[in-house]
Amino acid sequence: MKDILSMTLPELQNAVQELHEPKYRGAQIYHWLHVRKVTDFAQMTDLSSALRTKLESEFCIKRLFIARRLASCMDDTVKYLYRLPDGQHVETVLMHYQHGWRLCISTQVGCKMGCQFCASTIAGYVRNLSASEMLLQIDETERDAGVTVSGLVLMGIGEPLDNFDNVIRFLDLLSDQKGRTMSLRHVTLSTCGIVPKIKELAERCSGLTLAVSLHHPENSGRNQIMPVNRKYPLPELMEACQYYFARTGRRVTYEYAVMEGENDSMEDARKLAALLKHQQAHVNLIPVNAVKERNFHADRQAAQRFMQYLEQCGIHATVRRTLGSDIQAACGQLRHEAGCVESMKREE
Ligand code: SAH
Repeated sequence: MKDILSMTLPELQNAVQELHEPKYRGAQIYHWLHVRKVTDFAQMTDLSSALRTKLESEFCIKRLFIARRLASCMDDTVKYLYRLPDGQHVETVLMHYQHGWRLCISTQVGCKMGCQFCASTIAGYVRNLSASEMLLQIDETERDAGVTVSGLVLMGIGEPLDNFDNVIRFLDLLSDQKGRTMSLRHVTLSTCGIVPKIKELAERCSGLTLAVSLHHPENSGRNQIMPVNRKYPLPELMEACQYYFARTGRRVTYEYAVMEGENDSMEDARKLAALLKHQQAHVNLIPVNAVKERNFHADRQAAQRFMQYLEQCGIHATVRRTLGSDIQAACGQLRHEAGCVESMKREE
């Protein structure tokens, strides 16, 4: 059955015409799905029951189910482990910020990028999420928490630019003026650095903030912790980021997980400043979240020193607040620790 929540308005209009219905029915259904956010065809009360029955036999409205919900005792962060229709799991994190609620969503089940410090990649890649499965992380969380999400970050499990078509479809549905109307200015997409897709994104989406997971200022060190760097080394990545800024006018954010003894010396700070010297950049320093299987440690003081040095060089830098550190809010940790990865393997 077709996944109706992933369909654009023109696709829906074509689909209803194929069912010998007038085109405007497509807009009615789209409104029910993306503005009223109903979960059942029976709720589409301005359609005849004959049409609703026909729709039910052709299409499905997907749902996600809460497998676990962890609320932080330290702040307002809530972490959801969602079960997808096929039994796989992904994580979504709801965070409270000065300006409202921000949601961190996943874009894939697992990840193939192999970053050394990241829990999402330990058990490898399973599949891409559909556009509807990304939208549903927002809808189900809003329903459960009784909040309206005003900002989004694509920083959960997965590499968004490795699921490019579905992510673009998701962003188109999210920002559609006839539907959900979220401005892409409130959305940040984080990538480990898939160069050709960064360029394509610059052509396709306006307003979106690009965040690049940098984590090391030199090829040799970055190759060790981020295998993607062997395919798309730093000079190419920097060139793509400059292209993104030139094309969109949006300043690129660089994420830098500070790892003791790995990338946190003053020499590293100097190299990072030199790398970003000619750019409109914002550096987000993240004391690395310890992952059980990996031997990386955070040093908050090193992160502070790093920040001060970058600021002295005229590079805008912040140390990320740690939210939800008591509830395994780091990338991929909950899915991993809840044993979803093991059960997935057993089922295979
Ligand atoms: N694949 C994308 C988005 C998902 S990861 C990317 O690589 O950007 C979201 C961010 O969390 C990335 O910057 C990633 O490098 C970072 N991250 C992953 N594991 C981390 C950890 N253990 N501690 C701190 N940051 C981590």
